Amino acid sequence: MKKQLYIKTYGCQMNVYDSGRMADVLAPIGYAPAEAPDGADMVILNTCHIREKAAEKVFSELGRLRNLKEEKRAAGGDLLIAVAGCVAQAEGEEILARAPYVDIVLGPQAYHKLPEMVAQAERAAAQAATARANGKPAPGQGILNTDFPAEPKFDHLPAPSVSGPSAFLSIQEGCDKFCTFCVVPYTRGAEYSRGVAAIVAEARQMVAAGVREITLLGQNVNAFHGEGPDGREWGLGALCRALAEIDGLARIRYTTSHPRDVDDDLIAAHRDVPALSPFIHLPVQSGSDRILRAMNRGHTADDYRRIIDRLKTARDDLALSSDFIVGFPGETDADFAATLKLVEDVGYVQAYSFKYSPRPGTPAAGMANQVPEAVKDERLAALQALLQTQQVAFNQACVGREMDVLLDREGRQAGQLLGRSPYMQPVHMEAPAALFGALARLRIVSAGPNSLRGELIAAHPPQPKERACA
Ligand code: SAM
Ligand code: SF4
Repeated sequence: MKKQLYIKTYGCQMNVYDSGRMADVLAPIGYAPAEAPDGADMVILNTCHIREKAAEKVFSELGRLRNLKEEKRAAGGDLLIAVAGCVAQAEGEEILARAPYVDIVLGPQAYHKLPEMVAQAERAAAQAATARANGKPAPGQGILNTDFPAEPKFDHLPAPSVSGPSAFLSIQEGCDKFCTFCVVPYTRGAEYSRGVAAIVAEARQMVAAGVREITLLGQNVNAFHGEGPDGREWGLGALCRALAEIDGLARIRYTTSHPRDVDDDLIAAHRDVPALSPFIHLPVQSGSDRILRAMNRGHTADDYRRIIDRLKTARDDLALSSDFIVGFPGETDADFAATLKLVEDVGYVQAYSFKYSPRPGTPAAGMANQVPEAVKDERLAALQALLQTQQVAFNQACVGREMDVLLDREGRQAGQLLGRSPYMQPVHMEAPAALFGALARLRIVSAGPNSLRGELIAAHPPQPKERACA
């Protein structure tokens, strides 16, 4: 009988992808996905360290899992507990010291080692069970791997399993930019790009398995510089052109990109490759040059405005989302006003905004002039109100338009399907279940603050170009 594996994923799409890969490497040694931790033989917490209280959340979840492990042991079974992801990378030793019942701690670069770590942990658990049965103290069992190995893990991972018409494909990892607020360079390690041939082969397999939309993933996805089949380094633009050649691949997205890495070829790809999504997530963090400098972002607010102008010139239906941080150390009212001005100038269809959270070990955490929480709260509320107004206006402007929507989920009610518009808006519609997975042409008939409703015009291959709403 298969053993049951429950993975709880925190944080970004990269972690969602990594969780899938961990399930893939554990399938050959007999683990099948479970929906809940209760009946599971193994639980993995795939953690995120990007903002505060991440570690505390993990420790409180571990407390619950400890109880579950004890219940299972009392009933003659066992539960393997693993902590993966960026909290594991940053606080591995601390986790094993504070929660000695954890069996495995592994960083993001060690997933391909998971089967051997599980085998080791199963052996250790069996020895501990024998010791307990003989009234002897059980030896400590925690296995730790937070190395940044020289050999890239992707070469050792099996082809990812896919389900549904939309899939993530990781092409780049790590970061060398060292923004002063961010833990990623410390938890994910140095920047690394996969080779083009391996990425294209993986994309082909996904399309053969029914995938119509691929989202290319990387902490700095447009810093991609993988070795091409010609032996030269290819950028993201060239990679997108190659992927667009795959028959049946209707839409290509990428995330998360950095303004500094938007190069001429990527802009040209947005002009030339219809399958490339007209929706880009391009985080700017702040509209103040002084704060951008203190953040070590390497560009000004006007550099960012110019990049967007060039992208919109290349593709006039382009729409944007972004990430913002409010209350970075030293941020004044004038700095914050510059952020609001940038938001007004650009106009976002959707965005994420966060209060600055000091991350231990990062330069900004030790900066003077930390902004009081109450000021951060106020600024966050003001920024989110503006962003929400823009999102609602964009959604309203979509009413009456036609667009291609990938129907990738079943609705709550029978006869309903859900999909994502080119701009990532959730779209509801009445449609036969047989259309699941289709790219359907819809007319948008109404809009709410967070979603759209559409009527089917036709289910067909994607249009050469999807027009913007506003
Ligand atoms: N590489 C991307 C970039 O450069 O924009 C961002 C990746 S980061 C994993 C995702 C987002 O988390 C960032 O864009 C930033 O807005 C937010 N973030 C990162 N560190 C943060 C911190 N210390 N406090 C608040 N937000 C943070
Ligand atoms: Fe973090 Fe992105 Fe800056 Fe890298 S570029 S340090 S991932 S915010």
